[in-house]
Amino acid sequence: MLYFLSGLPRSGSTLLGALLSQRPDTYVSATSGLTDIMGAAVTTWEQHPATKAQGANPVEGIRILRAIADAKYADRTEEVLIDKSRGWPSPQIQKTMEQVLGKPPKIIATVRPIAECLASFVRLIKPQDVKNFCKNSQLAMHLFSSYQNLKQGYESAPKNILFVSYDDIVNNPQKELDRVADFLEVDRFEHTFEDIKNPIKENDAEAWNVPGLHDIRSKVKKEKYNPKEILGELWDHYQGGEFWTGKPEPKKEPQLIDIQLKAGLEGDFEKGWEIAQQLEKERPNDDRAAFNRGWYLLSQGKLQEGHKLLDRGRNEDVFGNRHIGTIKPIWDGYKKETVLLNLEGGLGDQIHGVRWAKDISAKGCKVIVSCSSELVPILKNVEGVTAIIQHEAVLGVHHDSWVPSMSGVVPLNYEYEDLKGSPYIFKPKSKSYNEPILKSLGIEINSACNRKCVWCPNHKNNRGVDFLDDKIFYKIIDELKEMEFKGKITFNLYNEPLLDKRLSTFIRYIRKNIPSTYIYLNTNGDSLNLDFWKELRKEGLDFANISQYDGKINENIQKILSELDPKEKEHFGSKIFNPDNICNRAGLVKSKRMKTPLKQYCNKPFSELCINYKGKVILCCNDYFSAIEIGDLKKQSIKEIWRSEIFKYYREKLLEGDRANLELCNLCDDF
Ligand code: SF4
Ligand code: SF4
Repeated sequence: MLYFLSGLPRSGSTLLGALLSQRPDTYVSATSGLTDIMGAAVTTWEQHPATKAQGANPVEGIRILRAIADAKYADRTEEVLIDKSRGWPSPQIQKTMEQVLGKPPKIIATVRPIAECLASFVRLIKPQDVKNFCKNSQLAMHLFSSYQNLKQGYESAPKNILFVSYDDIVNNPQKELDRVADFLEVDRFEHTFEDIKNPIKENDAEAWNVPGLHDIRSKVKKEKYNPKEILGELWDHYQGGEFWTGKPEPKKEPQLIDIQLKAGLEGDFEKGWEIAQQLEKERPNDDRAAFNRGWYLLSQGKLQEGHKLLDRGRNEDVFGNRHIGTIKPIWDGYKKETVLLNLEGGLGDQIHGVRWAKDISAKGCKVIVSCSSELVPILKNVEGVTAIIQHEAVLGVHHDSWVPSMSGVVPLNYEYEDLKGSPYIFKPKSKSYNEPILKSLGIEINSACNRKCVWCPNHKNNRGVDFLDDKIFYKIIDELKEMEFKGKITFNLYNEPLLDKRLSTFIRYIRKNIPSTYIYLNTNGDSLNLDFWKELRKEGLDFANISQYDGKINENIQKILSELDPKEKEHFGSKIFNPDNICNRAGLVKSKRMKTPLKQYCNKPFSELCINYKGKVILCCNDYFSAIEIGDLKKQSIKEIWRSEIFKYYREKLLEGDRANLELCNLCDDF
């Protein structure tokens, strides 16, 4: 008669098999492929075209299976044949075997708490990374699938299964063997528990690459080791699940990390952050805690530090995609080499991740982008992309290093201020597009202003005191000279140029190098006096537009005006500012103009170039926070930036009057 031995790996099935083999009437197999062979036979038989054509006769099918089982043990003379496989408890297999045997199958299943099974594996194999072993190793997967199979099998037919717990078989083996005999309805047998021989040979080296996996000791006794110590902090994680005891699941005390999560969900970030710091001290190696801490750091403005911690979420499969399987290292952020940028997540995440192609390429690398096949046509022309492949081909493409896209900021060593808020995917060029003409440049030579006018974003923000790098200023002028620029140059965006002592020198340099340019000064005039004015004029200033913000002409300006001769006054404009006619600075200040978004063309990107004090070219004079970065003069030329894709994109949209779909312009009432 055929019976079955199953259960969880490392739960004593080999020992039980060896002890049962002591019975002269019993044969116990090594792990057998009988379930798989029978399963393959069923599939082949049912799906073969000839069988299909005639209609699969279920009786025939069962006969075939019975013949296979009989053939497997045809040379055995024992009355009790026990076939060992983790697959037998599967509900479907049990149902089939009931038909094959003509009665419900009897399955002996050895069991042991999951945590102890894992600890036993770890003790034997001694993996370097215990956590990874417990989560991803083939043996751990085998344990978990055996567990699921057994659980489902027990739920579908509890009477077919006899559980033998590991502790019971080592503490009281005879009693357990009597239970087994009763279950199989065979006579009880007196076993010996000294000098046990194991006649069942398993080739563990070949099957699992772990020699000795099924070795047993000659004497039945419990091994002396503490599984809790072996699993360490993983012990709690693997507690519970012992459905065979019928006892309720142990109540798990809420972990600190769960309390932190709850606090975060309830918006109590102060408490969440406190716990994050506590966990950092108590459990520095806990990747889940590190991952959570990363989000708090991001919210505190620490992009780099936060992202490094988010990366540890990859060990827990809570961040990014799984490792692509390459043996190449992550790009170090410096080497000029071929970098594979693997776009992670769903389609939206991937579109987000392709932004790094331009930045990696700017460091002298070739960038191969790997993405979902649907995105290939959209992303292939993104700036910086050398070649594009679909994910399935990722291991077939040459690369020296790689970057998982969700962690792009880490090798690029970016902080928040390095991030560009500008578009990086553009629609194909339209044929009707005309090259615009650069007519004026606003060069923000310094960052500070002495005033805080309510109609100016400076009112609520403090950019500190900083200055445009001299080198960039001279580079700009040298390039303009080469371009034979004939337009206007001003020295401001949201700064007061008179506060920069280099102003006269800058004017002199412009005048000397580009005599044809129109040098124009926008100022609040607070620091201006006659001598200063004369100096500026002497160096080559053409005109000063002096905004008088206090509703009248300021005294120092009146004094200058009174001393200027009429000819000189033509170069001097002193206008009383009208606060009722201010633009809204792309949504940053209140204005009385039209409601946005306007459906109106705006000429600024067609004729003006605005350079902030960091040397970045921004969309226009209304881009206070440099939200739309068009280019970087540290790395690019004026010509390059003026003809850049992003500028073209904005111009085309503005030509169509489509401000609604343009970041910044959608909030702007200027034109
Ligand atoms: S003086 Fe000009 S730059 Fe300064 S705060 Fe007023 S509007 Fe802004
Ligand atoms: S619409 Fe406003 S934000 Fe857009 S380019 Fe013109 S001025 Fe700048």
